[in-house]
Amino acid sequence: MRTPVRDYLLEVTDGLVDVRDGGVADYIPALAAADPDRLALAVTTVGGRSYSVGDDDLEFSVQSISKPFAYAAALLDRGTEAVDAVVGVEPSGEAFDELSLERGTHRPRNPMINAGAIAVHGLLDASAPGGRVGRVLDVFSALAGRRLVVDDEVHAGEMATADRNLALAHMLRTYGLVTAGAHDVVDGYTRQCSVLVTARDVAVMGATLASGGVQPVTGERVLPAAVARRTLSVMLAAGMYDAAGSWITHVGIPAKSGVSGGLLGALPGQAGICSFSPRLDGQGNSVRGVLAFRRLSADMGMHLMEAE
Ligand code: GLN
Repeated sequence: MRTPVRDYLLEVTDGLVDVRDGGVADYIPALAAADPDRLALAVTTVGGRSYSVGDDDLEFSVQSISKPFAYAAALLDRGTEAVDAVVGVEPSGEAFDELSLERGTHRPRNPMINAGAIAVHGLLDASAPGGRVGRVLDVFSALAGRRLVVDDEVHAGEMATADRNLALAHMLRTYGLVTAGAHDVVDGYTRQCSVLVTARDVAVMGATLASGGVQPVTGERVLPAAVARRTLSVMLAAGMYDAAGSWITHVGIPAKSGVSGGLLGALPGQAGICSFSPRLDGQGNSVRGVLAFRRLSADMGMHLMEAE
């Protein structure tokens, strides 16, 4: 169906087709095999209207876009104090797989880098059916409004090259910030990263954060407003890794990127946005995704610091 919003999104993606800079992530076998030319853009408003173009129904592994949602789930399961005890809320200014620990507390600086996300995964309620991964799937599915599943092939490939994440988990165990077995927690975290989503799903999940926790399509309150607000705050501070400052300056939308090429944005009170394009820049962010968000932010006045 043609609508002015869809036409606009098509104009944005048409303008990006010739951008071929960057490269697909090659340290996870299934990602190295991705078609680099795929491109999708999806928007869901807090009123529950969805618009999307391109490969909007193509499934990809959620990867690090899972981190804000798992953080929200941990806040839900354990409360703010328990979560704050194992992970900070400061931007790290370092790469996603850096062992960025605060001096003194040894906490990972934030839940958007791998060290923080592994600690957060370890906090999830393991008594749920299916353990921590079952919990992740339940919360993510409620956010998306459909039943999501793990891609076992992505998970297996990622576990075969997980030495660095295992090292992070072992290190966190020495500080008592992870109490479960290191292998167990990394296996669960990796399954969390291997959940399959489409750009449409991620836009809806983002719209749930943007609306203060109410899934705008099903009407279900999935998260308390305070959890949604905190999650968006941490996304703004740290969602784009070492590109966080330039992102805030040029785009001004709380966001989270993932190595499979997805990019989630959530503008409070307005909308959830997702772009998908697998070629990444040096910081691990989707090249076309960053350009798409810059354009949307400028054209629609979406920058948070906009006076009106
Ligand atoms: N699963 C990936 C990892 O742990 C996620 C990284 C990412 O998307 N930036 O390496």
